[in-house]
Amino acid sequence: MKKVLVVVNAVGVTPVVCQEFSRRTVWEETIRRVASSADYDALLVRLAGEGVLPPECGLPELRVSGNGSHAVLTALSGDHPGYDWYVFVSLSSAFLDPSLIGHFVQVGERQLAHYVYGEHFPRGMAPEVLSAEALTILCGVSSGRDFPFSDEAIFDLMGLDINSWDIEMVVSEHDFRRMRLDLRVMTSEAAARMRSLLTLDPGLADDWSWERLSLVLRSHPEILRTLPAYVEFDLLDTCQLACRFCPRTLLLPAAERVVSLDEARRVIDELARFAPGATLALSPFSEPLLHPECGTIIRMVLDAGLRLVLETNGLALDQGMAALLAAADPERCIVIVSLDFSDPVRYENEKGSGLLGLAEENLRRLFSLRQRNVWLQAIQFEQDDAALDAFYEKWKEYADAILPRKYNTWCHRLPGNPAVDLSPLVRTPCWHLARDLVIRPDGSVGMCKQDPEGRVFSGNVFSEGLAAVWQRLDEQWQRHCGDEVSRGDDLCRVCDEWHTFNF
Ligand code: SF4
Repeated sequence: MKKVLVVVNAVGVTPVVCQEFSRRTVWEETIRRVASSADYDALLVRLAGEGVLPPECGLPELRVSGNGSHAVLTALSGDHPGYDWYVFVSLSSAFLDPSLIGHFVQVGERQLAHYVYGEHFPRGMAPEVLSAEALTILCGVSSGRDFPFSDEAIFDLMGLDINSWDIEMVVSEHDFRRMRLDLRVMTSEAAARMRSLLTLDPGLADDWSWERLSLVLRSHPEILRTLPAYVEFDLLDTCQLACRFCPRTLLLPAAERVVSLDEARRVIDELARFAPGATLALSPFSEPLLHPECGTIIRMVLDAGLRLVLETNGLALDQGMAALLAAADPERCIVIVSLDFSDPVRYENEKGSGLLGLAEENLRRLFSLRQRNVWLQAIQFEQDDAALDAFYEKWKEYADAILPRKYNTWCHRLPGNPAVDLSPLVRTPCWHLARDLVIRPDGSVGMCKQDPEGRVFSGNVFSEGLAAVWQRLDEQWQRHCGDEVSRGDDLCRVCDEWHTFNF
């Protein structure tokens, strides 16, 4: 028996692993790479009754009846003993460089480590290496704990008492953290990125070296733009408040437009087909709960399998809406209530209304029904620490739910400055162009959220469809990727939102 067992994790596998990776499926490619070395044994861990993969995948299998880590770890320890090292990789890691497995094991041996992991790699590239001794200990640690056997399970279990382990890391020569890349092919977005990479360099199918892939990734930031990840959709064009820091002040008064249920359904259904992993946020420049059918639209979004972000001022968050939100899956229905201030006088001065008490009462009612993923937003102006401190003091019971919001000057079109400047020193292509789409209530789309007036008109999703508009916006992204100095047009030059990131 060899001394290394590579455990290929197929628990939680999605149908995307059956998409094609250069003449094979993703899962076949991962197994091909894992099985390419005679230096170690390999084992596929999958759920009993899982129907995504064929009955036989060419590797010995460990079938588990639940997705709990304890069941998997004890089965590995009990049924597959005698190995010095257990290496964990995802079945979706089709870009895996198998030589990293040997390298990580060597580091573990040399340093007498319990555990070796990779830093600064994209997700899905670095294996995790666990010593036999650590596996035995983790069997005990995981007992009685509800940890699903995800790709994070080993690290999360070790994190329960991180100081008791000898942990070594292998650091990638190039830091990929900023790219927030996940090369595991688990979502439609990742599958689109996989296809882009293979188009850019077909040789990646047969040259598995991390160096080659790393070079392609660094030379082609355009592969970061695949499918929309965060779509903001204005359901109407109105709000009860008149915040002086709101971008609505930049808009000319428009004839009030309310999205119809048919229009909403078309956008939601198309998004769910085109980018099933996307988040839909209501509503960037208006108060979504004023839409007469907001509850119906919330249900549509959730029923379509999308994740919802509902951002509201809380004034219309009545009992019925609170009950609807409380009944939703909190992992897929995120609620942000923008109180912004805790002092009623300041609230009235800044937001044009003395309704703070009503918003607070509504928020407390929602908190009484549900706390997970209910966020309480407070705005951060320059040199305004006292107001934020007072906010934390007033809401200290829910301190973990407070979400400080960076003040946005909308490209210096509103006065003032944010409390801190967190912009990285090196300007890179804008995340919002790579991931976001902002739809106004008439269906029109500008360049980004910083462009509420639609100066850079990009099309209309009601008349052209969402995919066509998304495709047209690619031109702006390509300009960002190619223009190191100005990063696009006048708005972009003075914008300080390019590095911020939504989901
Ligand atoms: S840099 Fe700013 S203005 Fe330009 S696309 Fe990004 S968010 Fe919009």
